[in-house]
Amino acid sequence: MKANIVLLPGDGIGPEVVTQATRVLESIAKSHSHDFQFSTKKIGGIAIDETGDPLPQDTIDACLKCDAILLGAVGGPKWDDPNAKTRPEAGLLKIRKELGLFANLRPIITFPELLDASPLKREIIDGTDILFFRELTGGLYFGPSGTETLPDGQQRSYSTAVYTTSEVERIVRMAATAARGRRKKVTMVDKANVLEASRLWRRVSAKIMAEEFSDLEYEVVLVDSMAMHLLSRPRSFDVVVTSNMFGDILTDEASMLPGSLGMLPSASLGSSGPGLYEPIHGSAPDIAGKGIANPLATILAAAMLLRHSLHLESEAQLIEKAVRKVLAAGHRTADLVAKGTPSLSTTAITDRVLEQLGV
Ligand code: NAD
Repeated sequence: MKANIVLLPGDGIGPEVVTQATRVLESIAKSHSHDFQFSTKKIGGIAIDETGDPLPQDTIDACLKCDAILLGAVGGPKWDDPNAKTRPEAGLLKIRKELGLFANLRPIITFPELLDASPLKREIIDGTDILFFRELTGGLYFGPSGTETLPDGQQRSYSTAVYTTSEVERIVRMAATAARGRRKKVTMVDKANVLEASRLWRRVSAKIMAEEFSDLEYEVVLVDSMAMHLLSRPRSFDVVVTSNMFGDILTDEASMLPGSLGMLPSASLGSSGPGLYEPIHGSAPDIAGKGIANPLATILAAAMLLRHSLHLESEAQLIEKAVRKVLAAGHRTADLVAKGTPSLSTTAITDRVLEQLGV
């Protein structure tokens, strides 16, 4: 298999973790005789510094032509000025739009070896295996918004959640298709008791599920209840599908179940073209440059890249198994141990993963 992979390291710990995940991809290419060509492009704060644009055209062009994209993270205090002309996050929103990446997949799996790293009780989280589908290019983050000054001098701001039938259909279909290969249950999360846009989600989703996926169990949960259920009975969910903002908040909440942000990958997919793979954590400016960032989320994102964009399922599983074995052997980065306990560096834990892969 020949594949062109664009690397977008970004800011903060982004370059550190992408370098390690690339080592893992290179080792898989070598051991399985694949030809992966990597090119590195700029996004986020570093792109603003060098070009004035958080997503330069050169990056867009490379991404449009490649087979898959591996992203680190963007942002940091240097670019936080609320009055700045542009921000690193604008690069992320734009690349999702440019590539039509309407679905964000976030697996939330608790690793048996890390159950005690979670702030939640082991008996509640043990066995959690949820696959979130968050809609990524519509809703409140992309609808009409603005600020106006009222005659009395007050400011009035608004953000609007807008969805169309086809935007809901395509993500519900993608989520339900994935559920068929899992435990055959779909949970759709909305706020249909209050929001008009959620009522569209409820109607469209019910129709698709009844007409095309009647073999699956289907339930609807209000987002406020879901926030509770995720903490009290996470094991009861299989595939969860929801809109952009609800997905943003619920997946960050769910990320606490496995214990560390440093373990969680995500994939952003469209109906065709390259997918974009990244850890769910940010650029962690507090630890950037110290060599202690946990690279496992990005390594697991690389596994998702092999699975979803290159259709190399067995290679993806090899990486996931290697990560589990590394954890089972007791190896940890600093974010996974109590303060003061010895831990491995970003590079050293990747070395352990490579050993498990047999290279
Ligand atoms: P963060 O995820 O960067 O960090 C939160 C905490 O988790 C920090 O203490 C950090 O050290 C720790 N952490 C995160 N990833 C880690 C890893 N791999 N290994 C060990 N520890 C890790 O979130 P934040 O501090 O709220 O945001 C920092 C910057 O990142 C901000 O500019 C924010 O806008 C940006 N951000 C970017 C993305 C993205 O690029 N997709 C996502 C979230 C936040």
